[in-house]
Amino acid sequence: MNRFDGDVIVVGAGLIGLAIAFELAERGASVRIYERGEPGRAASWAGAGMLAPYTERIRNEALLDLCAASLAEYPAFVERILAASGIDASLQLDGVIYVAFESDGLQALREQAKALTARHVESRMLDRSETLRAAPWLRGGVLGALLKSGEGRVDNRRLGRALAVACEARGAHIEHSSSITVECDARRVLGVRTDRGFVGAGAVVNACGAWAAQLAGVPRACVPPIEPVKGQMIALATPVGFVRRATWVPGAYLVPRDDGRLLVGATSEASGFDERVTAHGVHELLHASLGAAPALAGFSLTESWAGLRPGTPDGLPFLGPAPLDGLFLATGHYRNGILLAPATARLIADAIETGAASALEPFSMARLGTKAVDPQ
Ligand SMILES: Cc1cc2nc3c(=O)[nH]c(=O)nc-3n(C[C@H](O)[C@H](O)[C@H](O)COP(=O)(O)OP(=O)(O)OC[C@H]3O[C@@H](n4cnc5c(N)ncnc54)[C@H](O)[C@@H]3O)c2cc1C
Repeated sequence: MNRFDGDVIVVGAGLIGLAIAFELAERGASVRIYERGEPGRAASWAGAGMLAPYTERIRNEALLDLCAASLAEYPAFVERILAASGIDASLQLDGVIYVAFESDGLQALREQAKALTARHVESRMLDRSETLRAAPWLRGGVLGALLKSGEGRVDNRRLGRALAVACEARGAHIEHSSSITVECDARRVLGVRTDRGFVGAGAVVNACGAWAAQLAGVPRACVPPIEPVKGQMIALATPVGFVRRATWVPGAYLVPRDDGRLLVGATSEASGFDERVTAHGVHELLHASLGAAPALAGFSLTESWAGLRPGTPDGLPFLGPAPLDGLFLATGHYRNGILLAPATARLIADAIETGAASALEPFSMARLGTKAVDPQ
């Protein structure tokens, strides 16, 4: 029998599970990650890699604070991963532009600029000619833009590969298992049963993304109400540097990669676990992007894909201890899981290591009014 009496088991090797495992392993914990597919290939691969809490217009203060903290942690996070893996995830905090083509939109940006100033967040309104200098590929009818200086992007596919290597380098092994069941008694979690047998652990982290509600063996009261929210994206092959910064236009965002690929995202669809790319989805993305930038029309469309965001009823993630000793939740990151990876990893590692979870209270399952554990 394959028996592992280590400290922590993380189920799910997306960016969230990998980041937690890496953090714990760097702190000296004994960690094992279980994944049924390919590490870093689900939503974490499908995402655009934008690190933009203010552009996202997050309304919940606790979530906005967490996103802002995570953004601030990103440079050190990618440095540590680079040191462990040798892979640079291409972090670029060179600002995000939000453009307006209508006067209402421009007014909304001015109001947002004021609100950001009140929060001491650096941003700057660009007039029409400044906007066209920053993004000469936009349609001439643009009225202006808001530049949020400290936001940016990371190559999330590279980050996933880097984190997987970094985890192994720090001794957090990634195991493949097509079937994983959490085992617990009435008091606490005991470990997981994989297709190779039982593996004991002091703590189990559910980092299963959009599938977190389906993790087998979890007592009903500890099942987070996660719903998949599909996002479709496409990539165009543009000359390197054609689009310099992540840019939001009405109905879409455009995110450049180092190799010239320009990602255009993303739809938002409640369609269950359907991961197909549809004609309608691609049409929506092309309609919005070419409407704002007809200059993109001649480039090749080289890739299309879809992924499932882990959505929650109130838009907040579920982070921290579940109502069963030893079981932890790190899921429901919805549109911001790439951004939230560093802060999630730090706070979940704190909660596991020291039991300190007060910073995670706004994201606890207790907000749903959960009380008793109901072992199955
Ligand atoms: C189109 C799109 C664009 C996005 N853009 C951005 C963006 O610009 N910025 C941003 O911050 N966020 C963005 N997101 C959101 C972000 O991608 C997600 O919030 C984040 O990737 C969630 O990470 P995760 O590790 O929780 O989930 P995932 O990456 O989905 O990983 C979950 C893993 O768990 C595994 N798993 C599930 N169930 C089991 C099980 N029972 N046993 C074993 N393994 C299991 C899965 O196979 C998977 O590998 C985007 C998402 C999409 C879809």
